[in-house]
Amino acid sequence: PESITVAELAKRMGEKAADLVKSLFNMGMMVTVNQNVDQDTAELLVTEFGHNVQRVSDADVDIDTSEDVDPEDTLKARPPVVTIMGHVDHGKTSLLDAIRGADVAAGEAGGITQHIGAYQVTPKKGDPVTFLDTPGHEAFTEMRARGANITDIAILVVAADDGLKPQTVEAINHIKAAEVPMIVAINKIDTAGANAQKVREELLQHEIIVEAMSGDVQDVEVSAKEKTNIDKLLEAINLQAELLELKANPDRDADGTVIEAKLDKGRGPVATVLIKRGTLKVGDTFVAGPAAGKVRALIDDHGRRVKEAGPAFPVEVLGLGGVPSAGDQFTVVENEARAREVAEYRQSVLDKKRTTAAPMSLESMFDKKG
Ligand code: GDP
Ligand code: MG
Repeated sequence: PESITVAELAKRMGEKAADLVKSLFNMGMMVTVNQNVDQDTAELLVTEFGHNVQRVSDADVDIDTSEDVDPEDTLKARPPVVTIMGHVDHGKTSLLDAIRGADVAAGEAGGITQHIGAYQVTPKKGDPVTFLDTPGHEAFTEMRARGANITDIAILVVAADDGLKPQTVEAINHIKAAEVPMIVAINKIDTAGANAQKVREELLQHEIIVEAMSGDVQDVEVSAKEKTNIDKLLEAINLQAELLELKANPDRDADGTVIEAKLDKGRGPVATVLIKRGTLKVGDTFVAGPAAGKVRALIDDHGRRVKEAGPAFPVEVLGLGGVPSAGDQFTVVENEARAREVAEYRQSVLDKKRTTAAPMSLESMFDKKG
């Protein structure tokens, strides 16, 4: 529909119609609750009230979890989700490996490390931490562009023997734009040319004042190669997480974000999902982007089958009817008919986009490869 009554719009937004009328009045429009407003005005109102804009005609079909807020007394502490960023060759991958090696839960249960896009570490001292295994700001920015703000804390890696480099600065800008707290890991302190103090001074030029310079951004000197101070870095993350008071309701139907997905020869479509809230269980019916499905199996980052996955837990999900994209929303729904309806609707939107998409510019093609 090209227009909608104020009353109907208010209902869909979960706001009082009178508040919408007041807001319209302030925009210079005299409208009563039973009068129509056009699509543009409706969108303006939706934004004005701080909701996500969704074409009003979509609201009947697609899922909008933004209105669905869990009551305070259902919330329980959850692990932080951490992304590692920094210049190429400064040690992002090495650091992720070193941190993975500090997982005490891994050794006990004897699983084999699986690279599924994210993993969870339980340090010797402290609480579990979830890491996104796809370092680099491309993944970070792309996820954010798709509305998936899943990172709670960013680790900025700077090699002590190289200092701030262009991609370090880019990473800083992305972290600032996302308003995500940062911890600086000054890496490669084992090298002969290491100068951690120089790194701290260079960071000042970007208004990052680390604790060693009496600021409030935690900085930790590490060596990913020698596995020095990995425990200290994990402690710093735990401390930052405590300050953030991260919570989620584990006792509800799950929703989360697709971290990566692929078509596996033997297993069919497989997606790694990071659960945002609720607990995902084998047998749950869900929709992931344009794919409907029913959980056939859940596999953790050590290749072990698990029965369920709670908040901030990354799991591989088997049982999808198609391959979603990274950043897609994953939501458990009440039944298969509903899952199919939403999946089909999203697919039709994608098809429409595909046929109307502008030809790629040379520039954007190079961007994609970068
Ligand atoms: P990325 O591009 O940021 O993922 O960096 P990598 O983890 O691939 O590391 C780049 C290079 O630096 C590799 O040759 C690593 O072995 C080396 N490297 C990483 N961390 C350290 C460290 O703490 N000390 C030393 N000496 N070398 C390191
Ligand atoms: Mg790497």
